[in-house]
Amino acid sequence: MNRPLLLNPGPVTLSERVRNSLLLPDLCHREPEFFDLQDEIRARLLQVHALDPSIWAAVLLTGSGTAAVEAMVSSLVPQDGQLLVLENGVYGERITRIAQIHRIDYETLAHDWTAAIDLDRLRGRLGQAPVITHVAVVHHETTTGRLNDLSAIAAVCAEFGVSLLVDAVSSFGAELLEFAPAITAIAATANKCLHGVPGAAFVILRRSALAAAPTRSLYLDLAGWCREQDRRSTPFTPSVHAYYALREALREFDDAGGLQARHRQYGQLADQAADGLQKLGILPLMPARDASVVLRAYRLPACGYARLHDELKAQGFIIYAGQGTLSRQLFRISTMGAVAAADVARLLAETARIVA
Ligand SMILES: *Cc1c(COP(=O)(O)O)cnc(C)c1O
Repeated sequence: MNRPLLLNPGPVTLSERVRNSLLLPDLCHREPEFFDLQDEIRARLLQVHALDPSIWAAVLLTGSGTAAVEAMVSSLVPQDGQLLVLENGVYGERITRIAQIHRIDYETLAHDWTAAIDLDRLRGRLGQAPVITHVAVVHHETTTGRLNDLSAIAAVCAEFGVSLLVDAVSSFGAELLEFAPAITAIAATANKCLHGVPGAAFVILRRSALAAAPTRSLYLDLAGWCREQDRRSTPFTPSVHAYYALREALREFDDAGGLQARHRQYGQLADQAADGLQKLGILPLMPARDASVVLRAYRLPACGYARLHDELKAQGFIIYAGQGTLSRQLFRISTMGAVAAADVARLLAETARIVA
């Protein structure tokens, strides 16, 4: 096999169409062609969820997904704000680290990595002093494949008039995401469910939130990036080729039927993998109704991770280990990217041979 199939949660296997877009002409980021590229991406990002551009802005950044999450948290929690971070995995804990580094006044509501967010605990905390102004949560916690119940969390935030900041890095483009009134911003990246390459990330925010935006960072200042992009400029040298790939990936996304179509396609692949592995005695960490369509975590078979990984890699499949202490119990398979049912069928056939 000449091309590896990436079954890790980004970077993803590229379509030929997106890969070829990387060969477009060299482009200076002070030329109108670059601003056309930037404008088209910003407009298409809002169109994924049919968001009104007079209320919402897509702010494009050069960096990985973490840059977008850090820009969102550091730019949108005001100096006198108080942040509550909901943690149930590595990426929720990363938001806490961001709050610490930027000296944001924060608290955490920590959960076991395998647990769902406890809405009663959330409601209990929001009802107490000192007053929480912002809650941050991960939509799809890639640590375990759990899809946190964003609508329910947003509803609790709305009860208390609290703003919700969402790490949607591994869900944007594949999971249905309701931009409920409590949601102030979501952060995401080009190289996960949108099928671009690493280097471009973005925050979709309510324009009204920029009025009180503090500046805690030179590079990750969302208000500055948004202001420059609105006037067809850019504050720093962008990753032009990553933008080429993101534009093509967004065009391909629309041509294939948009969000509903991708959600359905991902769901079919995830279920195909889960059903096939179950027949081999490899069980999922959680029931499908709690999991994303993007990635699922499975209990390791007796052969162990190293052998499973290495033998699958020799056949062209890259799977993903569990994180932290979960690495001893779990492995993960993500079917994001240009992956087809036939690829999953081959993966299952190879896995059957290895665990036999
Ligand atoms: C991948 C991921 C990130 C960001 O990772 P980068 O390596 O910085 O792109 C953040 N949050 C979640 C939930 C992720 O899955």
